[in-house]
Amino acid sequence: MAFTSARSGARPLNLALAGTPPAAVGDVAADLESVRRALGADRVEGMHQVHGADVARVPAEASDAPVPQADGLVTDATGVALLVRVADCVPVLLADVDAGVVGAAHAGREGVRAGVVPATVAALRDAGARDVRAWIGPHVCGRCYEVPVAMRDEVAERIPAAGATTSWGTPSLDLGAAVRVQLADVGVTEVEHLGLCTMEREDLWSHRRDGAAAGRLAGIVQVVA
Ligand SMILES: [Zn+2]
Repeated sequence: MAFTSARSGARPLNLALAGTPPAAVGDVAADLESVRRALGADRVEGMHQVHGADVARVPAEASDAPVPQADGLVTDATGVALLVRVADCVPVLLADVDAGVVGAAHAGREGVRAGVVPATVAALRDAGARDVRAWIGPHVCGRCYEVPVAMRDEVAERIPAAGATTSWGTPSLDLGAAVRVQLADVGVTEVEHLGLCTMEREDLWSHRRDGAAAGRLAGIVQVVA
């Protein structure tokens, strides 16, 4: 697995869900198609992310079914790229390379609390995965993700690693650290944590920094033949 920051001309690709705001930022459909072609994927499957812990299994055959309402996707189908969209939340990609099973999870504050990452690992194992590796993509870091003290304490009570402090000394959450702990708790110890902060990097979309004008970056994983 590798990290590529893909740009289209002078701007980062916007891989937001088609039809959702901000429609003004780039051409979402064209950006998504350029990614599909670059990957050599037959199709790219995303989800309607709702900050929960439901996981959808993506079948090999394309269908007219609506985009699943979920925060985790799993597939063992070759050529189907799974896509998780974020702009500060934590994108988590999962794979058992030998078994040919992959997954993608969207872990914001609510998803971390709801356990979407362990749920997605469990779904991979239900699909035949055994030796799962993980990749934690760019997200707002613990030095930047300021929250009210009560919110920090409430999450940290469940997952102590989530409790953090901003670089300016106020309460914050370190969701990347929380995800690492959740992965370790379910036996996933081979983890690549990119450590890139969306708020600090101008080439990455950040909802906190850019507000409603933010596009979405994506973590994408697929089984290749
Ligand atoms: Zn940061």
